[in-house]
Parts: sequence; structure tokens; C-alpha cells
Amino acid sequence: MDFIHDDFLLHSKAARHLYHAYAARQPILDYHTHLAPADIAEDRRFHNLFEPWLEGDHYKWRAMRANGIPESHITGDAEPYEKFLAWARAVPCTLRNPLYHWTHLELKRYFGINELLDESTAKSVWERANDQLRTGDLTAQGILRKFDVRAVCTTDDPCDNLAHHRKLNASRSGLRMYPTFRPDRALSMRPDAFNAWIARLEEASSMEVSSFRDLLDALKRRHDFFHANGARLSDHGLDHCFAAPCTETQAGVIFSKARAGRAATSAEEEQFASFMMIFFGRLDAERGWTKQLHLGALRNVNTRATQLLGPNTGYDNVGDWNQAESLCKYFDLLDQENALPKMIIYNVNPTDNYVFSTAVGSFQDGVTPGKIQFGSGWWFLDQKEAIEWQMNALSNNGLLSRFIGMLTDSRSFMSFPRHEYFRRVLCNLLGAEMEKGELPNDEKLIGSMVRDICFENARRYLGLELAPAAEIQEAPAARA
Ligand SMILES: [Zn+2]
Repeated sequence: MDFIHDDFLLHSKAARHLYHAYAARQPILDYHTHLAPADIAEDRRFHNLFEPWLEGDHYKWRAMRANGIPESHITGDAEPYEKFLAWARAVPCTLRNPLYHWTHLELKRYFGINELLDESTAKSVWERANDQLRTGDLTAQGILRKFDVRAVCTTDDPCDNLAHHRKLNASRSGLRMYPTFRPDRALSMRPDAFNAWIARLEEASSMEVSSFRDLLDALKRRHDFFHANGARLSDHGLDHCFAAPCTETQAGVIFSKARAGRAATSAEEEQFASFMMIFFGRLDAERGWTKQLHLGALRNVNTRATQLLGPNTGYDNVGDWNQAESLCKYFDLLDQENALPKMIIYNVNPTDNYVFSTAVGSFQDGVTPGKIQFGSGWWFLDQKEAIEWQMNALSNNGLLSRFIGMLTDSRSFMSFPRHEYFRRVLCNLLGAEMEKGELPNDEKLIGSMVRDICFENARRYLGLELAPAAEIQEAPAARA
């Protein structure tokens, strides 16, 4: 039997039935990614397997470093095939790491390749995959259609012009791409970077930012502009929540200091960020958007590597800040002024699973089902064991049935089988409990929950506009 077979990860009859009858055929709504909007709008074609698979994948880079491979063959100057070969040699050493599953799932789903990747199969895998990338349907848009991705959300700075989003959404591609408002740079008070970003904001919002009030007005304009371009989500990457008391006058003083080129103290940064996060919460609440908080990553910890390769090159780990108090305080401040938007919170430290799953339960509003969501396993927690941990914590402290499910959070077009992986883990968990009698052996009851978690809950909750059915049928893949 092939390693990746029809019933991969499905260890009971009930699990297999749930997956094949209810989960497998659901479309995908990938509501948080870091895909490049230009790649999608311009329907990028890849020239070889290195480009979509290894070029930006820091999970693989970390495994290669751990396997003793020099940087020349990871992010350095070696030829694409040499880097691919180094990866192929490392793959047998990744047994039990999720990369071993993902690698073979991806080879199978994109290229129909069943062989295990290692040094002996590397050349043939490289050639067969490259043939299909160069000549087949596996362009950026072709990949989205192959996996029935109805909408994809990118992650964008408030200054971005969103031209690629408009271009794609005006075409009859059957696909939709929406921006996500991620104003992290508004919170970063290093004067050089902050002032350079304000200059971009002035241009994007067609107004001068000479006072703190102007900054808020310019950001509101950009939020409106994102809304007009279909955005319904915002996102923030934070160590922990900010909820220090800060008036508009105090925030204005800190703003003026940064504008004059003087660095803020860390207490001032915290105050300023607290004021801004409340402001951003209000913007989202007014528009009915969903705010995402990605909390707790400790980034760029290796100074030597960061100096050599720059940030975000695979030198990040799980952080251990205290999250509960500031998270609840942030929710509470917004709730007290009736401005708590729909919210998805993601933790990267698994010890926070119960903190997060109980925090969401304290701020539900009794109107919108699952208004405050405990997000799917993120980053280091995006694997079988931790996906189960997240779903178990959510089940025990909240409503798994209202969960809006999986997202890829990926920079790579090769990551879409992560949805399949998640769905198999979900069905395996539920199927095992049906067979033990811990859940009713009622396929319609459990199956409809599976369908909701795979797609329907996200569709209803996020309110993103999807392509009409006629357009999906007309799209190139369906015509072929
Ligand atoms: Zn992300």
C-alpha cells in the first residue's frame, strides 16, 4: 500500500466514513495566509519544484539545519537542484516530524507521486514535478482551483494599494482574494522605521499626518478603503496583548516624540500600543469585521543568524509570556464600550490552550454564534498532536461545533493539503469517539458538524463574498 493512501490517518470505520462522505468534498476558505497577492493576480507559473516548495519554507530550513546541512544549500548560493537534493537527503531523517507527512501528502496531491522522497528518488521526483509545473495546470490560480479554494485572504499593510486584489476579483476566475488589514507597523515606535512608514501612510491616504488625530484619521481612511476592497478581517502579531491605560492626549505626546526622532521608552511603547489596539478594535467593531490576534511568538532569537540572513528566516520559537490577564483586559476594555468585534485568537505556546479556550468563553455575546473564536493550531502547533490539543481544549471549554476551522497561514502554494490533513485529524478524533460510544453513532449529527467546521462555519462567520456558482463553473479548470 502507498504511504499516503485513501484512509491515511483515519483509524476507524466511522472516521473513514466521516472523512469521505462529509469532509473531503468541502471547498476551502483560506482566511489567513501570507501568499503574495501579485502571484495570484498574475497567475504565477513556477519553473521548478524548488520555487514553490523550498524557496520560502522555514519549517524545512530548520529541519535541514538540524540535519547538518550547510546554509549554502538552504538559503545560500547553491543551485536549485542542489538545494532540492539536500532536502531529499534530509527527508528520511524527518520521520515523526510533521514534515514527513506534509512532504508526501504534497507530492501525492500536486503531482500524483507515490514514492517516498530520499536521495535515490530525488532525480525522478524533481523531473516529474518540474514537467507538471512547467506545462500543466499548476499555476498559482490553477492550484487554488485544484484544491477548490473559494476565497483566500492575504496579509497586508494599511499602506498597500490592493491593486492585485481588485484585478483578480474583477476577473471571472471563480476565485476571490481579499486583503487583511495588518497595522503592526503602527505600533512599532523606532523613530526611523515609524517615520518612514508614516510617509507611506500619508501618500496612501492622500493626507498629511502632522498630528496624532491625523494618524487616526488616515488609518480610518485606509480601513474604509480595505473594506471597499472586500476586506472583512484584520490581524496583529503581538508578544502579548496591550491593555495599559492611555488617554488620547498621552498617546499624542508619545506620537510627537517619535515624530521628532526620539525613541519611546518601553512603558511608553506599551501605552501607545494599548491606545492603538483599542482604536483598531473600534474600527473592526463598527464595520462588523473579525480581528485576529497571533500571540506569543519569540522571534529572531539567534543574533548571528539574524545578522547574516535577516529576520523571519527560521530562528523563532515558542515564547512564554503571561497571556491571560492582558488578553482578558483587552477584551474587557472593548466590551465595556460595546466595541468588541468578532475575534479569533491564536496561541503558539500549547500551555496557553486552556487560557485561550476559557478566555473566549468569557466574552461571547449571546447573539453571534462563536463570536470569539479560539483559532486553529498555529505555527509550531500546526501538526497532528497539537491540532488535537486545540480541538480538545475547545471541546472541553467551549463549542467545537461553532469552530471556523483550518487556515494555512502559509507563504507557499504547496500548503493547501494542510486542510486535508486537518480534516483527517478531525474525523479521526470524532470517529474514534463514535466507535467507543462517547459520541452518538449518528452519522448525520456528527457529519453535519464536520461539514460546518470544514467550510460552512467560516463562510457564515466571516461574511466574505464568494464567487457565484456560474462563475466557478466557467473558470478555466472546470472548462477543461
Ligand atoms: Zn500569519
